[in-house]
Amino acid sequence: MGHDYFKEVVKDIKRAAKIIGLPIDHVARLAHPRAEIRVAVPLVRDNGSIEVFTGYRVQHHNARGPFKGGIRLDPDVKPDMLKAIAAIMSLKCATMDIPWGGSHGAISCDPDKLSRGELERVARRYTYMLLPFIGPKKDIPAPDRGTDAQFMSWIMDTFSTMHGHTITGVVTGKPVEVGGTRGRKDATGRGVMFITRRALEDANIPLQGSTVTCIGFGNVGSFAAHHLARKGCKVLAASDRHGGIHDPSGLDIHALREWVEEKGTVKGFPGAEPVTDDDILAMDIDVLVSAARELTVTSKNQAKVNARIIVEAANASVTSKAASALHERGIIVLPDILVSAGGVTASYFEWVQDTSSFFWSEHEIAVRLRDLMLQAYDDVNAIARERDLDLRTAAYVLSVGRLVEAQMRRGVWP
Ligand code: NAD
Repeated sequence: MGHDYFKEVVKDIKRAAKIIGLPIDHVARLAHPRAEIRVAVPLVRDNGSIEVFTGYRVQHHNARGPFKGGIRLDPDVKPDMLKAIAAIMSLKCATMDIPWGGSHGAISCDPDKLSRGELERVARRYTYMLLPFIGPKKDIPAPDRGTDAQFMSWIMDTFSTMHGHTITGVVTGKPVEVGGTRGRKDATGRGVMFITRRALEDANIPLQGSTVTCIGFGNVGSFAAHHLARKGCKVLAASDRHGGIHDPSGLDIHALREWVEEKGTVKGFPGAEPVTDDDILAMDIDVLVSAARELTVTSKNQAKVNARIIVEAANASVTSKAASALHERGIIVLPDILVSAGGVTASYFEWVQDTSSFFWSEHEIAVRLRDLMLQAYDDVNAIARERDLDLRTAAYVLSVGRLVEAQMRRGVWP
């Protein structure tokens, strides 16, 4: 399934283009990433032996501005999934009306098996190999699974050293000390809350006491749960790759986050019952937050879902087919290219601050994030209402329209 996910994304793009009657030859260009770069990343291990990993960078679209996307460490990289996520990033930036395109990258190593020194050498060699392709005006990497703010610092330092001066804007998700932005860490989870709150309101479900479950309790899932709980939602269940927990009277998210900080998993949280992801899928609740990884809700398991709203917090975590089936069953799908755009939006703020060397307060960031997210929600909703579409299709109509429009204005040259 993961194998042809890019094809699925392209199918969705074409379907959206057809709805608004875009010229098919321009749309076809979206089926071809601008570049797919593959490099060797040799590493001298701490014991002196040499291991060679493969580094990838897929650059999908840059007609609206530089490529933008994460870098993941994954021993099991699926190049096709990188293409899919690069395309989703193009669509996400266009949905948000951020002047960036989309890209995605990976290195085929397992971060759990590398020392800190080895990770640093991998980051620097990967950056060195990609020097001609990245930069604040070309392609701006960010953290994804297995990479973090420290990894971004090493990329920034390597890139800067090779250019002879500090260039903070080459990556986002950096520590605040070296050009990172305030409010980046919880931005995706906070964005999930802004959009979910509005969707609940539009569905006439009172926010106070609405019930939530969370598959995936990492950066995105735990902050989404935190912000939703703070607004009065009751989070009944949460899971991670080690297992899940359930408390019908509502989990104490603050305590749970502390527990996970200490133990590395939600498993064993006092007072909660163990559950599987399948149990969580089937719970009768208002909001299911899918924040673990790609392809979590598929046509195989969507029939089990018993929620009013599904939040596609992890990119491509609800397949296109599953989304259509859910829509037919009257379940609202909040699509990744809208609902999980808080992170890239904060990244955009980081890049703007880096390039202007002027930094904003936490409050300014939270307010701007809310405004941009709700603007995008309104834009998507207007299309959904006007054309009688589900939100996912409407988001595709909006973003594909913007990508193609930019391409047509620029033309093809040489
Ligand atoms: P993370 O690594 O911090 O968290 C992932 C969580 O999912 C962990 O709790 C992990 O244990 C859990 N998980 C993995 N496999 C699971 C399974 N089979 N069942 C249940 N839980 C499982 O990653 P993150 O930063 O929270 O990102 C989650 C997803 O969202 C990724 O796909 C990422 O690409 C995407 N995303 C992240 C951001 C961001 O700002 N971090 C923004 C947009 C999209």
